[in-house]
Amino acid sequence: MGQHLYRLAIAPMQQHGDRIHLTPDQQHYLYRVLRLTAGDRCIVINGRGKAWIASLADDWATLLNPLELGTELPHPLTLIVALPKGSGFEDIIRSGTELGVSRFQPVISDRTLLKPSPQKLTRWQRIAQEAAEQSERAIVPVVHDPLPFRDSLDPGTQTTALIALARGDSPPLTTVLNCLPRSTELAIATGPEGGWTPTEQAAAIAAGFRPVSLGRRILRAVTAPVAAAATIAAWQEQDQVHPVTSGEDSGC
Ligand code: SAH
Repeated sequence: MGQHLYRLAIAPMQQHGDRIHLTPDQQHYLYRVLRLTAGDRCIVINGRGKAWIASLADDWATLLNPLELGTELPHPLTLIVALPKGSGFEDIIRSGTELGVSRFQPVISDRTLLKPSPQKLTRWQRIAQEAAEQSERAIVPVVHDPLPFRDSLDPGTQTTALIALARGDSPPLTTVLNCLPRSTELAIATGPEGGWTPTEQAAAIAAGFRPVSLGRRILRAVTAPVAAAATIAAWQEQDQVHPVTSGEDSGC
C-alpha cells in the first residue's frame, strides 16, 4: 500500500501528536513542485523507524494510519570510512544509504588528505535524509562527527568489527560472514586513497577488527565501502522471502 505516494522525512520537532508541521521548503516541494493539494496523501517517515500515511492540509499534515515499510536491514550496519578526497564521502553516504547502512562513522586516518569543515556534517546528514527518502528507507542513517581513526576502534561489545585491506592475504568478506550468525551487528572500516598505514592496520587488529578482502582487485576508496555494504546487505537478507517470489519455489 502507498507505493506511489511521496515520502516525506520529518525531524522529531515537526511532530505534535498526530499533526506534522511542514517546513516552508517542504510546503514548496509538496504544493509547488509536486502540485499536491489539501486532502492529498503522502507517507511521513520520522527517520526513527516509524512511517504513516498522512493527509496534507496547508502547512501541516495529519497522520492517518501507521505503515510497515519493511525496507530496513534486519541488523544494524556501520561503515567506518577514512574520508576520501573531494566529495567522495557524499557519494558513499548516498550509495550506502540506498544499500541499508544504519551509521556512517567518518574517520581521519594518517593518510587522509581531506580536512572536513564543520558545515560538512549538516550537509552529510541532509544527503543521508534525501537518499533515505528516495530509497524508501524507514530510518535515516546517522552520520557521526569525524573522529581520528584511533578513536573509532571501539565499536562496542555488541558489534563485530571488520577492516578491509586492499593487499595481503586476508580472507574474503563472504568467507568471514558465512562463519558468523546472521544476526551479528557489523561494522566495517575502509581506508583512504593511500590505504591504511601498517600502524593503523596493527592497531585495528589489536582492537579486535578482523581483516577482510573485497576481492583480488584494488578498489577506490569510494568503491570499497559500497562494495562492502552491498555484500553485507545481501548476506543479511539472503534467507528473507522476497514478496514477488513468496508462495512460489525458492527461485533458483
Ligand atoms: N593505495 C592503496 C589502496 C587503497 S584502496 C594500495 O595501493 O594499497 C582504499 C581502501 O579501500 C583500502 O584501504 C581498503 O580499505 C579498501 N580496499 C580497496 N580494495 C580492496 C580490496 N580488494 N579488498 C579489501 N579492501 C579493499
